[in-house]
Amino acid sequence: MNRTKTRYIIALTVLVLLPTLAGAEEYHCYFGNTHAHSTFSDGKGTPAEHFQLAKEAGYDFYAMTDHALAKYKGYKPENYETTKRAAGQATDSKFVALVGFEFSENDGPKGTGHLNVLNSASTLDATGPKVTLPVFYDWLATQGPTVAASFNHPAPATYNGFAYLTDKRREGITMYEMINSRALRYPGFLKALNEGWRVAPMAGQDNHSTWGIQNLAYRTGVLAQSLTRENIMEAMRARRVYCTWDKNLHLWFRANGRIMGSVLSNPASVSFSVWVSDPDTSEPKDRITRVELVGENGKLLRWKDFSAHTASWEITLPPTQKYYFLLVYCADKKDGPTAYSAPIWVERRPGK
Ligand SMILES: [Zn+2]
Ligand SMILES: [Zn+2]
Repeated sequence: MNRTKTRYIIALTVLVLLPTLAGAEEYHCYFGNTHAHSTFSDGKGTPAEHFQLAKEAGYDFYAMTDHALAKYKGYKPENYETTKRAAGQATDSKFVALVGFEFSENDGPKGTGHLNVLNSASTLDATGPKVTLPVFYDWLATQGPTVAASFNHPAPATYNGFAYLTDKRREGITMYEMINSRALRYPGFLKALNEGWRVAPMAGQDNHSTWGIQNLAYRTGVLAQSLTRENIMEAMRARRVYCTWDKNLHLWFRANGRIMGSVLSNPASVSFSVWVSDPDTSEPKDRITRVELVGENGKLLRWKDFSAHTASWEITLPPTQKYYFLLVYCADKKDGPTAYSAPIWVERRPGK
């Protein structure tokens, strides 16, 4: 090979690798489950058993989210601390065990709907006296910036139609369970976004035994700087979260240089950059076949077809939408997208 040719190949290699490096430099994609119940509420297996099996199955993170409700046989107030100790013992440089609880069985009058809270110091019983959704939202707002919550298995009508939003309440609930127990929950996602919540889609196995740990392939993807509890929680709080039916589909979505989950203020235009990659290059079924950019109400704005295990795409549009997100399609899934990105929001501030 002559020198010019070698130089050309090196330059080409750098060009091809650049988007990977640009994505990997700042954030890594980590894959896990955000929803599980043990013998401490209505599930099977202890938290320690769940964590151990998740670790063996190659999860980067796994959250125990038992119902914090006195009505369950296995419930004891001190169990939250016991689960935290199990998480501390299970966590190492390759695995993060998270602890939270499910706020559930709330029966109104101000709306019903389950929510998971991750990493809070304490729990709140949804069936307690005078505990309503607005009371929960305000309690959550006092829990500090290392806590993140999700709407669980939602529908458009749950949470009283996603009511009671305030600026303060918006910051605590950063995720939406798009996939729960193998079912997709898309209409409620659009409803939540249209009501003004800023939520990123996640996937919760909602395990009530340890069966799903090995047998379910869908995951919550998190873009974090490194695999520590602090960084995973920071990423969840910042909405750098997506859901994927494939256990390791990597996804970076940026607009005007800002990563998914960001809010752009009064942009003149929006330049999107997309980088998707599946490491299982020997599996033809894991090829990326299409990426769609959608706006308000899931309206299809632009798309691009691919047939490769990595796909990149740059596109600039006028800022006509309040939010944008991606749908990613892979060869093996014929009935809909494989992955849903976190939105990037566009905010109009008067006088700017
Ligand atoms: Zn639930
Ligand atoms: Zn649950």
